[in-house]
Amino acid sequence: MSYNVNEKGYYGDFGGAFIPEMLYPNVEELRSKYLELTADIEFQAEFDALLKDYVGRPTPLYFAENLSKKYNTKIYLKREDLCHTGAHKINNTIGQILLAKRLGKTRIIAETGAGQHGVATATVCALMGLECIVFMGEVDIKRQAPNVARMKMLGAEVRPATSGSKTLKDATNEAIRDWINNPEDTYYIIGSVVGPHPYPDMVARFQSVISKEIKAQLLEKENRENPDYMIACVGGGSNAAGAYYHYLDNLDVKIIAVEAAGLGVDSGESAATSALGKVGIIHGSKTLLMQSVDGQITEPYSISAGLDYPGVGPMHANLFATGRAQFISITDAQAMEAGLQLSKMEGIIPAIESAHAFAALDQLTFKPSDVVVINLSGRGDKDLSTYVEYFGF
Ligand SMILES: *Cc1c(COP(=O)(O)O)cnc(C)c1O
Repeated sequence: MSYNVNEKGYYGDFGGAFIPEMLYPNVEELRSKYLELTADIEFQAEFDALLKDYVGRPTPLYFAENLSKKYNTKIYLKREDLCHTGAHKINNTIGQILLAKRLGKTRIIAETGAGQHGVATATVCALMGLECIVFMGEVDIKRQAPNVARMKMLGAEVRPATSGSKTLKDATNEAIRDWINNPEDTYYIIGSVVGPHPYPDMVARFQSVISKEIKAQLLEKENRENPDYMIACVGGGSNAAGAYYHYLDNLDVKIIAVEAAGLGVDSGESAATSALGKVGIIHGSKTLLMQSVDGQITEPYSISAGLDYPGVGPMHANLFATGRAQFISITDAQAMEAGLQLSKMEGIIPAIESAHAFAALDQLTFKPSDVVVINLSGRGDKDLSTYVEYFGF
């Protein structure tokens, strides 16, 4: 049994492509070509060169000595916060823009909630000289002004989604509608391991560079490729999928998935999908999602915009359902304290998303000989005003 995707696009019972008929040609074009195109030697060479010189890979695997002393174990940080644009998301958008070019597409669309994926997409469109339209809820445009400014400066058009709650799911609906209307020239860059097959697998493959590097780096530092624990935060699940990828079927590696509990799992203000979610269909994929008794998607809440998502990708739904991963929910307060602790103890200000992963250290017990890797998915610059407001600096 494998915890990776099968040929039909399923992780166990989860995944697939539940899409309107009018979207079928676009998704089918991608599905039938993505493996061949991305396996091509020239594609690989261009992807690797951009990851190296543009993104700044390999990112370091840093031994956090002070944190290790406190928790009496060996803690390493995978420094995705040092990627160009400040987080892991660029690994995926580079891969997809290269794919879009090979498919002959000239117009790129994306949806964004907090704006991080929109910025990563606008960045690679600027790099490649392609038209870029980012759909964003009207409410989010107001809440995330700095990222809207970044996207515009990078040459993207930010198109407001004015229906429904005017947030991420409405922006996604607008993007899908646009794609249906422009099937010939348009490529839709999805920002996490969500959406219809082949997106979850494709995004996981692009992000899998994270665990590929960890293996080589641990071999050098610890004379072994495998950690005892691999810890990552899960919004849609792309940084986690990249960090777990090469360890999925290696049961010696304990996989820890950290979700945002917001004000508390049972507070009604939460994004802890594994604890609260039921099987359903979101963005064309069968997975776990937070929904009301009559199947309406529940508006999620977390202090971290990147974890504020009502579902998880199908890989993670399967890791939860099979018990392969241990899921931990972390509240806003626990994450903020963990972010402050990392700043003071290691001199690294994490994204609040990543701070959730660090808060899991207090929920686990380690042996002194254990090797623990935490995926530090992004840097905290974007969250400074939230930290300042919270702690009253
Ligand atoms: C977007 C984001 C996340 C959440 O997205 P995943 O697809 O779950 O990785 C986590 N951390 C940072 C820094 C982000 O920007």
